[in-house]
Amino acid sequence: MPDIDIRVTGRAGRITLTRPKALNAMTYDMCMAIDAALRNWREDDAVDLVIMDAEGDKAFCAGGDIADLYATGIKGDFEYGRIFWRDEYRLNALIFEYPKPVVSFLQGFTMGGGVGIGCHGSHRIVGETSKIALPECSIGLIPDVGSTLMLALAPGRLGEYLGTTGHRMGPSDAIFAGFADHYIPIADWAALIEMLEASGNAKIIEKHATTPPESTLEQQQTVIDALFAGESLGDILNTLTRSDDAMANEALTLMGRNSPLSMACTVEALHRLRGPSLTLRKALELEYRYTYRAMEHGDFLEGIRAQIIEKDRNPRWLHADQAVPAVAVSKMLQPLGKNTLTFEETTGMKIGFIGLGNMGNPMAANLAKAGHEVTGFDMADVSVAGLTMAGSGAEAAANADIVITMLPNGKILRAVGDEIIPTMQPGAVWVDCSTVDVDSARAVADQAKEAGILAVDAPVSGGIGGAAAGTLTFMAGGSDTAFAKAAPLFDIMGQKAVHCGDSGAGQAAKICNNMILGVTMIATCEAFALADKLGLDRQKMFDVVSTSSGYSWTMNAYCPAPGVGPESPADNNYQPGFAAELMLKDLRLSQQAAESSDADTPMGQAATALYEQFVESEGGLGMDFSAMLPRFEKRGRG
Ligand code: NAD
Repeated sequence: MPDIDIRVTGRAGRITLTRPKALNAMTYDMCMAIDAALRNWREDDAVDLVIMDAEGDKAFCAGGDIADLYATGIKGDFEYGRIFWRDEYRLNALIFEYPKPVVSFLQGFTMGGGVGIGCHGSHRIVGETSKIALPECSIGLIPDVGSTLMLALAPGRLGEYLGTTGHRMGPSDAIFAGFADHYIPIADWAALIEMLEASGNAKIIEKHATTPPESTLEQQQTVIDALFAGESLGDILNTLTRSDDAMANEALTLMGRNSPLSMACTVEALHRLRGPSLTLRKALELEYRYTYRAMEHGDFLEGIRAQIIEKDRNPRWLHADQAVPAVAVSKMLQPLGKNTLTFEETTGMKIGFIGLGNMGNPMAANLAKAGHEVTGFDMADVSVAGLTMAGSGAEAAANADIVITMLPNGKILRAVGDEIIPTMQPGAVWVDCSTVDVDSARAVADQAKEAGILAVDAPVSGGIGGAAAGTLTFMAGGSDTAFAKAAPLFDIMGQKAVHCGDSGAGQAAKICNNMILGVTMIATCEAFALADKLGLDRQKMFDVVSTSSGYSWTMNAYCPAPGVGPESPADNNYQPGFAAELMLKDLRLSQQAAESSDADTPMGQAATALYEQFVESEGGLGMDFSAMLPRFEKRGRG
C-alpha cells in the first residue's frame, strides 16, 4: 500500500506512515492495515515489539482523513463514517491493550486520529518539534480515538482545557498531561530504532531519554484549574468571561472558533468518565455515542464544510449563542442500544444463569451471543436463545466458572444459595444481580466465601430495555478479585460497572439510587399536575425544567407526561418500563435498610407510602412507575 509501509525488521514489527504530503493523515485502509499487522504479530514469536513512525518532518499524523467521511455524509450516508470510527476505535483499543511493547516516535503534529495510534502504546517518544493536540471541537466532533481517557486522567482540569480549546502541547506538556512518556532528541531516533530492531528490547529506551524543557502547562495548572472547574460549558464560559487573566482571554479566543455542542459534550464526557472505574474501552464507547450521531445530529458536516471544503472559516454552529441546553448534550451522549461500540471479548466461559424472567432472559441471551457457554435454569418453563437448559439450579451451577442469579427477592436468593453453593467449584464466582435487601446480600456472600467461592452482589439499573440492549449499569459489592473476574461479563451485559465496596455495597448503592428515583418521580409528577392546574402548557414546562435547576433523569430522560420529551412509557399508555410494584419493592428495601441503620429518610418514607397506596388500592399494579402523573392529575388537595 503506498500510504503505509509494514514490515518486520530484526525483532521488530515496523509500521511507517508514508503520506508526508498529507501530513500522514489516516485513511480507513491505513487503519485496517495496521489492525491486521498488529493481530498477526501478537501471536508471532519472531516479533518482540512494534515500532511506529512516520516520514516527513512536519507530522507523525495530523488526524483522520476526513475527505471520504464528508463526501459520504453530505449525501446522507452516515454508515460509512460510523464504520470508520467503530473500526478505528477498535484499533485504538488493540494498541492500548497490546501484550507486547508498542513504541511510537511522534515528531511534529500528532493530532486527532494520530493521537489514537501514536499515544496509546507503551513507549511514546517525543522530541523538539512534537506538537500534540485534540482540535476535534473545531470540526464539530469531540476529542475521540480514546483521547478522553488521557484527558480525564490529566492533572486537575487540564482535560477540559485541552479538550475544549484544542491547545497544542509541546513535548514537555505532552509528557505532563499523560500523552507521552519520554523526551529524546530527534537526531538520536534513527540510531535508537536500529538498536530496538536488533535487540527487541524496549527497556533500552529509558537509557536514551533526557530531561525535557520545563512544562508550561505545569506552571499554568493552578490558573487552568480555577478557570475550567465549572460543571458545564456554560459555567466555564462564565468564569472565563469574568476573569481578567490573560489565559482566560486566550482560551476564549480558541473556544470562540469551536462548536458549542462539541465543547459542552466534551466537558460532560470528561466529568462522566472521571472516576475509579475508568477504562479505555469505556472512554471509546462514550466517544462513539457522539461520533455515531455527529453527522446526523451534530456539527460535524458543517465544521468540515467551513474549515476544509469551502474554507470560509465561518461555521454556522448549532446553539451558536453557546447556551447549549443540557438536554442537547444528553441526546448526543445517550446510549446507542444495539449500536453500542463493542470490542472482541474473551469468549467460551462456562456460565450458569438462574432466574430467566424479564431481566434475566435478555441478559443471558446477550452472554450467549457474545460466545459464552451458558446453561440456564428457571422455575418457570422458559427458553432463551443460545442457552442450554438445566433441570435444576444446582445443575446449572455445577462446573460453571461464573454463576449469575437474577431473582425476585432476598428470601428466594437465600434458598437458591443453599441449593447451588454446595455444587459450585471453589474459585468459581457467584454474581447476584437481583435487587434484594442488604442483609440477604451479605448473608449469601458470607456463605459463599466459606465455601471458597468469590461473591459479588451486582444489582442493576436500566430496566428491561437496558437488559435487552446490553446497556445496564451494575453496582457491585465484593472483593477486588471477584469484581475483576466478573467485569468482562458486566461489559457485555452493560455499559458501566461501579465497584462500590465490599459485599452488600452494590445493594446499598442501588437502594439509595432508587430511593432518589422514587422521590424525584413523585416530585416531577406532582409538579406537572400543579402546572396543569395553573394552565401551564406541558411542553413549555418541560422546556423550562429540563434546562433549569429542576431537571432530573425523571424529567429529562423518562418524562412522565405523554408526548413530551424523549419517548418513554408515558407514550405507551404507561405500560412498564419499570413497574410501580418494583419501585415499591425498592422503596421498601430502602426503608428496611434505613430502619436497621437508624437513618432519617422522611422523603423516602413518604414515597414508599404513596407507591404503596398507588399499587395496592389505586390501580397502579402493572402500570409503569411514572403513571403517578395521571394519579395526581385526577386528584385535588383534599
Ligand atoms: P421476573 O419476575 O420477571 O423474573 C424472576 C424469575 O426468577 C422468574 O422467571 C421466576 O420464575 C424465577 N425464579 C423464582 N424463583 C426461582 C428459583 N428458586 N429458581 C430459579 N428461578 C426462580 O423479575 P425481573 O423483572 O426479571 O427482575 C429480576 C430482579 O431484577 C428483581 O430482583 C428486580 O427487582 C430486579 N430489577 C428489575 C428491573 C426491571 O425493570 N424489571 C430493573 C432493575 C432490577
